[in-house]
Amino acid sequence: MALNFVFTIDGDWSEYFATHLDAEERRPSLERELPLVEAELELAAAVGGKFVHFAHTSPLTRNFFLRPEFIALWKRVEASGGEVGVHCHEEDLHSAWHHADAARMAPAISGMVKGLRAAGLSPTSYRGGFMAFGPTVIPLLEENDLPLDFSCDPDRHLVTNGALVSDWRGAPSNFYRLDSADHRRPGGSGVIEVPLGIYIEKMSLPRIWRECRGLARRDGETVVAVLAHTYDLASWRMRLKIRAALAICRRYGRFIGSREVLDKAREAGI
Ligand SMILES: [Zn+2]
Repeated sequence: MALNFVFTIDGDWSEYFATHLDAEERRPSLERELPLVEAELELAAAVGGKFVHFAHTSPLTRNFFLRPEFIALWKRVEASGGEVGVHCHEEDLHSAWHHADAARMAPAISGMVKGLRAAGLSPTSYRGGFMAFGPTVIPLLEENDLPLDFSCDPDRHLVTNGALVSDWRGAPSNFYRLDSADHRRPGGSGVIEVPLGIYIEKMSLPRIWRECRGLARRDGETVVAVLAHTYDLASWRMRLKIRAALAICRRYGRFIGSREVLDKAREAGI
C-alpha cells in the first residue's frame, strides 16, 4: 500500500577498515571527512534533506565527530530535515566485538548521545557497526531515549574469526517493535526497528530496481532503510550510483524522516 524509505549514511571512512595500517593511520582526518559530509548534505537534498547520518564512535576514535567543525555540519543536517544518530563500532577490528558487553556499550552510547545533545542536537536513532546488535543494547537505547534502531539486516549472520558479529536470522523485513529478549522478533520494548531494505554498495542497480518493485507490491505500510557510507562519497562513481539508487527508490516509494517513522509506528499500532 505505502512504501517508505529512510535514507541512512554510516559515518565511516575507508582507512578505519584497513587493518594493514597502524592505529594512527587508521584515524579519520578533518581534511578528508568534512568535504565528504558536505557532499552528503548535497546528495540528501534529492530526498528533501530527510536522512540520518550515523556519527561513528569507536575505541580508535571516541569523540572525533563531536568536534566543533562537525557539530556545525550536524546542525545543518538537522536544519535541512535530517538527523544525526549514533553508530557504535565497539570492536577491536576483525578480532573482538563488544556489543554484548554492557559495561563497554553503556559509556560508548551515552557518551555520543550526551555529546550531541549538549551541542543542541536531537539524536533518536542507533545503528551498530557491522550491524552488531543484541538484547544487551536494547535497554541502553531505552535509557538514552533512542527510540529507533537501524541495525537489522534480515537474515544476516556474520561470523568473523570464530566470533559472532551479527545475527539477524529470521528477523522481520518490515519495521517492528523489538522484543527485549530477542532482537529478531517483534515484542514490547521501547525501541522500533527499521530493517535494511536497500544496501547501495552491495546491490547492483538492476537488483535495487527489483527489490523496490517487490517492496512496493507488499500490503500495508512498509518502512525500510536505504544504506550508504560516508566513504562512498569519495568516489564519483558511487555518488552517481547513490543518486540513481535514490531515484529508483523514489519511483516506488517516498523518503521519510525518523520522526515520521515513529508516527507511522504509532498509527500502525506497532
Ligand atoms: Zn559502520
